[in-house]
Amino acid sequence: MNNKTNVTTTGADPRLAGGRLTIDLDALIANWQLLAEKSKPAETSAVVKADAYGLGIVHVVPALWQAGCRSFFVALAEEGLRVKAVAPDARVFVLNGFFEGAFPAYEQSDLIPVLGSPHEIELWERANSGRPEPLPFALNVDTGMNRLGLTVDEALAYAARPGAPAPVLLITHLATADDTAHALTAKQFESFQKLRAAFKGIQSSIANSPGVFHTLHTGFDLSRPGVAMYGGEPLSGVANPMRPVVTVKARIVQIRNGRKGETVGYGATATLERDTRIAICSVGYADGYLRSASGSGVPLRNTVAKGGEGFIAGQKVPVIGRVTMDLTSFDVTDLPEEAAKPGDFIELIGANIALDEAARAAGTIGYEMLTSLGNRYHRRYLYSGKRS
Ligand SMILES: *Cc1c(COP(=O)(O)O)cnc(C)c1O
Repeated sequence: MNNKTNVTTTGADPRLAGGRLTIDLDALIANWQLLAEKSKPAETSAVVKADAYGLGIVHVVPALWQAGCRSFFVALAEEGLRVKAVAPDARVFVLNGFFEGAFPAYEQSDLIPVLGSPHEIELWERANSGRPEPLPFALNVDTGMNRLGLTVDEALAYAARPGAPAPVLLITHLATADDTAHALTAKQFESFQKLRAAFKGIQSSIANSPGVFHTLHTGFDLSRPGVAMYGGEPLSGVANPMRPVVTVKARIVQIRNGRKGETVGYGATATLERDTRIAICSVGYADGYLRSASGSGVPLRNTVAKGGEGFIAGQKVPVIGRVTMDLTSFDVTDLPEEAAKPGDFIELIGANIALDEAARAAGTIGYEMLTSLGNRYHRRYLYSGKRS
């Protein structure tokens, strides 16, 4: 570890905020480097849509650029502009379609659309007709996800069309790569191999985070990891090789003593089975600590029976009752009295409560947890690299 870690703070004043969010950019870079190592000899890009999965394009992209990342994927052109503002020489691909009226932004800011339907291709070609040289674009082909992309037949027809401008990149997206046993992944790899043959000499890209760890991921030119870079687990049910990037801590507002037989929270869904010390913490679903992580009273949660847990003074403590908009209650009865006081912090996500563990307790996935964190936190970015 470099001992000259710089700390940049943004968001709410730490003295006034209910929660603290720490983002370890060194860990994020180490994760990207591990993914880059696994992707070799392919180039490794970074998917930074949804404001870098909620962690902040402004902080994440310059660190990635410094580490050698040169290609970025965003969902929206508007996000692409924000990437360009901090990494002007980056190659920025925009995934979510191309629309009438958007061309000047692509032209001025050198964004690359990922075209995914004959309609988008037509719009793009028309927009380019006034230019001596058409601008670069990528093509997305659907090989089994049924989301965005040309059908395989449409892509083959495009490749065969005389004089059709060549894309700079051909991509497809995997639907099931996180599930190592799913048969669809191999099928998608196979269809994509056929397409590559029709688009000879064109760069190709298939792997998301789980795809990078897939044995079939060889011979492609560019990988596109997102969640694993941010510390999420790439493969479900397999030990997570990535370093945790995000720590979320919530401030304890009050410690209260509930009596056996009393209830806690909205709907009175938790009945105390013993006299209980309850830590009331200043983070709730408005901060992305999802209501479905409630200790009780969420009938629709069906992935795991128990709700979220916090970590304080070396121990895990369960959420009691429902998570509310601004507050969440934890049972701290088993801690020494001085271990949890008003003003102390309980970890909700971090080194002791893995992102995916917190997500599972809320019946969801790390992706949703990350992108929901919101803007009420005091944010600290740890980084020992050079600021570009
Ligand atoms: C979001 C996305 C990725 C990144 O997926 P992760 O599972 O987060 O690694 C890659 N490619 C496309 C097309 C995407 O939409």
